[in-house]
Amino acid sequence: MRTRIFREGGPYGVKKTGPDQYTMSISIPSDEDGRTARECPNDDCSPGYFKVKGGTGIKGQEIAFCPYCRHEAEPGDFTTKEQVRYAKDLVLQEAHEGIEGMLKDALGLGPSRKKTIGGGLLSIEMSLKPGQKPVIHRPFEEKIRRDVVCPRCGLDHSVYGLATWCADCGEDIFLTHVESELSVIRTMLGDVERRMETLGVRVAAKDMENCLEDTVSIFEAVLKTLVRRYKRKNGTPVEEIDRLFKKIGNSFQNIVRSVDVFENDVGMKLFDSLSEETVDALARVFEKRHPITHNLGIVDKKYIEKARSSEREGREVLISIREVHQAIDLSLAIFSSLHKRMFSVIRS
Ligand SMILES: [Zn+2]
Ligand SMILES: [Zn+2]
Repeated sequence: MRTRIFREGGPYGVKKTGPDQYTMSISIPSDEDGRTARECPNDDCSPGYFKVKGGTGIKGQEIAFCPYCRHEAEPGDFTTKEQVRYAKDLVLQEAHEGIEGMLKDALGLGPSRKKTIGGGLLSIEMSLKPGQKPVIHRPFEEKIRRDVVCPRCGLDHSVYGLATWCADCGEDIFLTHVESELSVIRTMLGDVERRMETLGVRVAAKDMENCLEDTVSIFEAVLKTLVRRYKRKNGTPVEEIDRLFKKIGNSFQNIVRSVDVFENDVGMKLFDSLSEETVDALARVFEKRHPITHNLGIVDKKYIEKARSSEREGREVLISIREVHQAIDLSLAIFSSLHKRMFSVIRS
């Protein structure tokens, strides 16, 4: 009589390893680009989700890192919930056949899966109708991502937010992550002229506005990330950091206010080598974001006062591709100087 739920061997190399124990090996499918999803085991980590490309990075890796919080664990500990679901579904599918066979044997049914008990006046016919094999859906994983190649170990991986660490070597590659985020805006800027020709001036103007807004958003996000990490590194209690961030609010969307926060709350200069004119120019470009976001791109009094612009009230704010490119270059210079001053790493 058949007494085993799983047949040994097969595509998953099933092995009976104990009275109630089987082992089988399931390979987790990768996406169309050969990337496998990973999830940080630390519940407090956000977004905690990333992908790594097979065949890149460290070979025979024993410890893997979360790109967002640097949690370190064995690579197998970074499975996503979808991958666990997929593995469980596969196990169920394998068990399906075994259980059906056991049932057939227990009831003494032959290959016809039918049996007649009794005879004459009283006969009962039993039949076993096999249920449908469960359908297995591949793990559903996120698609929108930013790809980054680690300059230290070569790991090609994808992240879904502003990350700091390499998932294989655990090195600080924050600036590489930030550069790849900004390069998306550069690509968009590079297409503005073509879009102006094919879709018109209005669409091109909107494209540039979006690029400027994205640049300011990245500036704010990067400064927040750097300050939070710097405060943590210096042992500032979490509650105090939270209080500080409440106070900071959206200050990092504005250059003058950012300078103040760095001077008074972080204890260092926001810029170390930029001239006053350069900082002034950057501040003016950032000011253009305000009328774009809150006033449909039309100049208002508040903007004129803040940006000391000669643009007349009621006119649309003018942004040039060059200005946004410059803002990106300056932002990167500031990030890299801050990163160096805040987290200078001595390498052996
Ligand atoms: Zn994490
Ligand atoms: Zn690396």
